[in-house]
Amino acid sequence: MAIVEIYKCMDCGIELKDDGSVFIWDSDLNQTKDFLILMMTHDWLHGAEISGDVSETCCRICGKFLKIYSIREVQDDVKNPCEVVMEGIKNYIANYGRELEKLKCIKKRAKYIVTKEEGYYVVEFPELEHCKYSYYFFPEMTKEEVIDDALNEFNEEIDEMVEGRDETYQKYLNSNYLIIDNSDRSQDDYDPLEKVNCPECGNEVYKYINHDVPCPRCGKELLCINHICYD
Ligand SMILES: [Zn+2]
Ligand SMILES: [Zn+2]
Repeated sequence: MAIVEIYKCMDCGIELKDDGSVFIWDSDLNQTKDFLILMMTHDWLHGAEISGDVSETCCRICGKFLKIYSIREVQDDVKNPCEVVMEGIKNYIANYGRELEKLKCIKKRAKYIVTKEEGYYVVEFPELEHCKYSYYFFPEMTKEEVIDDALNEFNEEIDEMVEGRDETYQKYLNSNYLIIDNSDRSQDDYDPLEKVNCPECGNEVYKYINHDVPCPRCGKELLCINHICYD
């Protein structure tokens, strides 16, 4: 189970989350993968050559988000795990950007296929998974009307996806990444008030966001505005 807590500073407006995310390095793709520990993802940690936990904060001096990857386990044959993870993060972000561009191209092309079933039309956008509109409730609609309607729906759907991913991508690009090798430390030495140094400017910041730390950007109070549990 994962507990996600979203904190917001009512003074400067920054939002940060504390969700107990973990990561693995996928050696086949040479990419890192961040995820919450849930029933369906629990097994992903087993057998990974590098794994650890991820936290996020912000550095008030450089004004950037800071993502901290603490390596907890490394297989013996992996050399320079911090460099490996850093490269994995870069590859992940580059790939994310490519997928986003692909999505924008799919929107531009808006390729569709119209088929007629018993008295109604079905419009399918084969380039976007699961994007299929069936008009069996409206057999009176003409083919042109159906296409028009389906195109509107398609645009709305894809715009929403692009907007969400654009925001995530911008955040990735506007973040610094700190990789720490903690593989020699025991799993249960978690200190909620641990501090680390920003890799860009050296400023000391709290590694985790929680009730006991002030806003990393302005020093005022952080408020937990949402608390969600996932299985
Ligand atoms: Zn603040
Ligand atoms: Zn900094």
